[in-house]
Amino acid sequence: MDICEVCGRFGIGFGETGICRECRAERPPYVLARAVAPYEGPVRDALHIFKFAGKRELAHPLGELMAGLVADLYPYRTFAAVIPVPLHPARARERRFDQAELLAGVIARYLRIPLAGRALRRIRETPSQTTLTRGNRLSNLSGAFAAGEDARRLEGKGVLLVDDVYTTGATVRECCHTLQQAGIGFVYVVTLATGIVRDTA
Ligand SMILES: [Zn+2]
Repeated sequence: MDICEVCGRFGIGFGETGICRECRAERPPYVLARAVAPYEGPVRDALHIFKFAGKRELAHPLGELMAGLVADLYPYRTFAAVIPVPLHPARARERRFDQAELLAGVIARYLRIPLAGRALRRIRETPSQTTLTRGNRLSNLSGAFAAGEDARRLEGKGVLLVDDVYTTGATVRECCHTLQQAGIGFVYVVTLATGIVRDTA
C-alpha cells in the first residue's frame, strides 16, 4: 500500500507524484499529516477499546507510537506546542475523558514539547461526522472551532496538531484554518490511524 506524501492516507495508485487525488486537487492547509497505521484491524480495535470502553491507560502505548513516528519523520523540525483537536465538552463528559488530549499529553511529554491544551476550543456541537457525506462534513464543521488563549503565545510558530483518527481530514483542515487565522505559522498533523483511499484514479 502507498502512503500519500501530503495527507498520509493509505491507498493504491497514487502514481508518480506519490500524492492522492484529493491532495493533488487541493493542497491541504497543513504541511504534512501522518498516521501510525490504517484505520483497520488491531489499531482500530485498540482505538475502540480506548475511546468507548474507557481504557484511558491505553493513551500511553498509543501516544508513544505516535510520538515515535513524529521523532522519526520530522527529526529536525521544532514545534512550539502540541495541540489536541478538542472534543466538545458535552461529549468529553459522556466519555469521561478526551482521547485526543490524552494522546497529545503523552506525545508532549515524550518529545519534551509544551502541551497547549487550550489553543483550540470547540464552540459548536456538530452531528457525528460518520453519518454525513463529504460535502456536508465540510459545511458541518465550518465555525466549529475557535482559537483559545494558548494560541496567542504561538503567533508565527510551528505546532503539532494531534487527533485519534484522520478520516476525510475535514476536522483537521478546519482546525488548521482556525489556528492560521490566529497567526500560527505552520501546522504538522499526527494521528494514530488514518483512512484508506479507495477512489484513486
Ligand atoms: Zn493525500
